[in-house]
Amino acid sequence: MNEAQNCHSERSEESASQRCAEKKQIPRATAPLGMTPFGLFPGLAQFPLIFFQSLLLFLCVLCAPASVSSVLSFSLPSPPQSEKPEWCRPLPRPEYKSLQAIPVSDPWFEVYKVAPGVFAIYEPHQADETISYLIVGNKQALLFDTGMGIGNIRKIASQLTARFVVVLNSHTHNDHVGGNWQFNFVYGMDTSFTRTNAKGSREDAQAEIAPDQLCGDLPKAFNPKTYATKPWKISRFIHEGFKINLGGRTLEVLSTPGHTPDAISLLDRANGLLFTGDTYYPAPIWLYRPETNLDAYVNSVKRLAALAPQLKLVLGAHNIPVAQPDVLPRLADAIQAVRAGQGTVKPGGEGKALHTFGGFSFLLAAARKE
Ligand SMILES: [Zn+2]
Repeated sequence: MNEAQNCHSERSEESASQRCAEKKQIPRATAPLGMTPFGLFPGLAQFPLIFFQSLLLFLCVLCAPASVSSVLSFSLPSPPQSEKPEWCRPLPRPEYKSLQAIPVSDPWFEVYKVAPGVFAIYEPHQADETISYLIVGNKQALLFDTGMGIGNIRKIASQLTARFVVVLNSHTHNDHVGGNWQFNFVYGMDTSFTRTNAKGSREDAQAEIAPDQLCGDLPKAFNPKTYATKPWKISRFIHEGFKINLGGRTLEVLSTPGHTPDAISLLDRANGLLFTGDTYYPAPIWLYRPETNLDAYVNSVKRLAALAPQLKLVLGAHNIPVAQPDVLPRLADAIQAVRAGQGTVKPGGEGKALHTFGGFSFLLAAARKE
């Protein structure tokens, strides 16, 4: 089951778009505070909206407006496409200013060269702000995730390299596998979770294009009515420790389960690069879903933290593509502190609690803590 499927199955009393809007807003903003109650109780929004909006604008200009857009999108007709949802008004994120932008033909994507032979393929027009990575070797290239499946990521990859592109996913939640079907060679972790998601789905994809999830125009060639996560074929199943030689560049698969059973990190040891998928990204990290295993997550993060001295750059799968390696031991400390009952806890939506410690936040199942 992927994120949006869970999103649909967990609380049947709410509309799918409402629930999924809430789902999306939490991890895509950089501060964790307080937007979800509005999504859950839109009728209560008017008064707390003003208070919380002021508070949130002070704390985080990015996430506060998202709560507003969630409420409005639920209670009013969809805004015209020309009206941006609040969450996207502060974009572009300032961190991108220092990155080298690479022009590409499809305005759905932005591409940044983040290391030699490494391109971050960013989707800033959808609330997930998913980032896929093209890693280029002398003989072939590897696309680490294929994004939402809204724009044509294969075309982008072909503009960035003439080499054969193989695909590997950080995990198989829908927002990372949308373009898998376009590629002839796709690695897959040998898990039942991966196999199930490779069959594709529609409902989760549809939730991603609710009006309040979009920032700007969908691609002209895109048909929202038929949008679905298309099934894909797994060409080769792989395991922990599998190495992929791209020619002058070797990538190692580190099984880092927790967020999902098939979550991996990808290590370019020689160049000190670690691609962390959804195990780390600079926003509240979701660890509440049925497929999440918190014990496994802690172990995985500790494992990554131990690698930090060997790393130059940590590259996560949402919002901002580059982080310094010391983020990993701090992340390990934070999740362990949270599990030990430290930090602050706020409601994170029904059945969920948003835990914050040391500048990190985690969306956990409330039942685990209470
Ligand atoms: Zn995910």
